[in-house]
Amino acid sequence: MNSIAKEASISVAVRIRPLTPDESTLRKIVDVVDDRMLVFDPHSSSSENPRIGRHNKRHKEHKFIFDRLFDEDSSQSDIYENATKPSIDAALQGYNSTIFAYGATGCGKTFTISGTPESPGIIFLALKDIFDYVSQNSNEREISIQISYLEIYNENIIDLLNIETNTKKLTLLENENSEIIVNNLSKYNVSNVEDVMDLIIRGNYNRTVSPTEANLTSSRSHAVLQVYISQSPILNDVMENSTKSVLSIIDLAGSERASATKNTGLRLHEGANINKSLLALGNCINALCDNRKNHHIPYRNSKLTRLLKFSLGGNCKTVMIVCISPSYRHYDETLNALKFANRAKEIKTKVVRNKTTVMKHVGSYMKIISDQKRKIYEL
Ligand code: ADP
Ligand code: MG
Repeated sequence: MNSIAKEASISVAVRIRPLTPDESTLRKIVDVVDDRMLVFDPHSSSSENPRIGRHNKRHKEHKFIFDRLFDEDSSQSDIYENATKPSIDAALQGYNSTIFAYGATGCGKTFTISGTPESPGIIFLALKDIFDYVSQNSNEREISIQISYLEIYNENIIDLLNIETNTKKLTLLENENSEIIVNNLSKYNVSNVEDVMDLIIRGNYNRTVSPTEANLTSSRSHAVLQVYISQSPILNDVMENSTKSVLSIIDLAGSERASATKNTGLRLHEGANINKSLLALGNCINALCDNRKNHHIPYRNSKLTRLLKFSLGGNCKTVMIVCISPSYRHYDETLNALKFANRAKEIKTKVVRNKTTVMKHVGSYMKIISDQKRKIYEL
């Protein structure tokens, strides 16, 4: 690794989902000013909108500016092209990249990340671009794409693609390059989008889902898809670089408080653990925004923050998509999510292209090896 670290900010995009039919009679609490500015609870203190609230608290207008703001009419490809495409391009250039969706249950995280067969989300659109890149560059580069898919549920890490270890809890380790890795996590070679989607469907079948009062199909866990991209030159007449990068696409569990779902027993315990991870995420974000030198960042307080350590404060280009509802019903959740997003945009990360220089003579050996490999596959 021999690149100079470049400072980058976490890019924060907010997506407002459309009102659902049962919300149509409720007051809208967000007003989109332009593609960056949003007003929360506009004119709330004017006489037209009396100060009435679920908890009788004083409503107040807030203005927020984000890197990107997507209104109710935004399409999946609007989000992909404008909020996340630069991260995919960066991953293909050898930078680690993370995209994560944050927000309360029912506000559009899974729709944004996974989408539906009619409106595929970021995973499908990203992988499609990645495989287009592979086919366009296959004459010059040996490119391998692998994926892993895990879930963090009740502070346990579960491999969604390996039924054998599915019941086992995996541990996190820091390797010699100070990267966080999940011990024994299975990785699959993939060569087209269909391979990936088949694996994800299989993985989703193994996910831990349960009905709660907040959302009947809400998932109580964090789902993490990782795409490992490794590239090395085939041609031996140029001195080129090999790169290895990881693209992480994360669908976080709902950010609402456990109390909002009126859970008891096991569900409450789950809620507390989800909050532990998301609380830890919030605490890390607060600490990262604090510019004091050598300020301690409490990554170790949860599995999620340990796993996201480099996405938040290290060598990674990170995009956070905060999904919100425009409806009065989600007043507190939306305000909390917007405040969280507002803090996150202060974070600076140091990004480095993960390259290793391949000398000419090494390049020629690699050409021989790749020719041999091809012959083996052709047999
Ligand atoms: P979350 O994962 O945050 O709990 P979902 O993504 O499951 O929320 O969204 C809840 C419901 O709203 C789903 O039925 C989903 O299809 C729908 N939905 C969310 N965002 C949008 C959107 N931008 N356009 C259309 N429907 C959406
Ligand atoms: Mg979801």
